[in-house]
Amino acid sequence: MASKGFNTTNLHSDRKDNPEHGVLHKPVHTSVAYGYNDARHIAEVFQGKRAGYNYGRQLNPTVTALQKRISSMEDGIASVAFGTGMAAISSTILSLLRTGDHIVSSAFLFGNTNSFFGTLQRLGVEVSFVDATDVNNVEDAIQKNTKLVFVETIANPVTQISDLEKIGHLCELENLIYMVDNTMTSPYLFRPKNVKASLIINSLTKYIGGHGNALGGIVTDTGLYDWSTFENILETYRSEDSAVWGITQIKKKGLRDIGASLGPEAAHHLAIGSETLSLRMNKASANALSLAEFCDKHPNIKQTYYPGLHNHPQHDRAKKLFASFGAILSIDLVDGLDCFDVLNKMDCVVSSSNLGDTRTLGIPVAHTIYFEMGKTRRSSMGISDSMIRFSVGIEELDDLLTDFEKALKS
Ligand SMILES: *Cc1c(COP(=O)(O)O)cnc(C)c1O
Repeated sequence: MASKGFNTTNLHSDRKDNPEHGVLHKPVHTSVAYGYNDARHIAEVFQGKRAGYNYGRQLNPTVTALQKRISSMEDGIASVAFGTGMAAISSTILSLLRTGDHIVSSAFLFGNTNSFFGTLQRLGVEVSFVDATDVNNVEDAIQKNTKLVFVETIANPVTQISDLEKIGHLCELENLIYMVDNTMTSPYLFRPKNVKASLIINSLTKYIGGHGNALGGIVTDTGLYDWSTFENILETYRSEDSAVWGITQIKKKGLRDIGASLGPEAAHHLAIGSETLSLRMNKASANALSLAEFCDKHPNIKQTYYPGLHNHPQHDRAKKLFASFGAILSIDLVDGLDCFDVLNKMDCVVSSSNLGDTRTLGIPVAHTIYFEMGKTRRSSMGISDSMIRFSVGIEELDDLLTDFEKALKS
């Protein structure tokens, strides 16, 4: 069904694999182990000579069905799911890099990714943080030992947009793994493969699952990177087909050995959630644009950050690359207004740290998710003490506008 639309393909994906009893949803398979009538077959499964399931930490039919859905959404060759988005990021990088390797990363990062990169530095992997909204900064940071470039699409919470296309060209030219965290845009708004990404990360917890009721993460190999040129692939994974070397090593060294597996119940919730991704994304993005326009004109707001505003530094880039501008919106209040008071006056906006929920969530970022980072790094990322980040949901716009109006009165 590759030629069908985004929704059609996703909605019918489980059914196309002839699941048991003609069910339309892949069932939740809770079995940890799999039995074989012929003991030789289990050996063949372990040796990769026969397709089959061996143990729940590495493979589960419900999770496999979800991996297929995401591979199809991202137009990738294969995906590996994990228990969280952070598990997908950390396990993937730990399975591919070694002490002495170097990463060039966007400085505008999800807080826990930033924290994990600190752990990598302590393990002897060098990380350079650069302003990735301009490819020149990425290019200047490349060293002899650079193996990987890491960027996000729309960064949290100031909504900077990486120079996605040009960084893709650069990585192709320099033969670097180009890892793009697509969580903020989701495969519905943006396909990183179109800008030559090698590996795509999606936190399934956010827009893909969409209801704040299950954690999950996934990495997708787009098939664009030539793994036969990557020296860190272990001898045992250098099979005949070099296209699968990367994803095999991620599966074995990342998922199997580190063991942050996605559970079948969560996989089921996330798959169901993904079926309405485009509807939720369209509504939440439209709400966010209207709220951003309202905030941009409001006298008690010093600055509004939203890629859909014409005054956003990367507005043209967002317009060119993304189907819409997403649902993350941040504001800086004028002096004298308190971010806690503003949030407390809101009725539909829940003070909460998650994003990508159906409900609108708001958080005072400097005091919560970016608190551990410290003031110096926060200011280098453009995060002020009065900043509130909103993850806009799918409520009726009028209700949200009423809330914002009421809360922002002096
Ligand atoms: C939330 C998030 C993650 C981590 O996902 P979890 O499922 O919470 O572990 C990674 N990257 C971005 C951009 C995120 O917003």
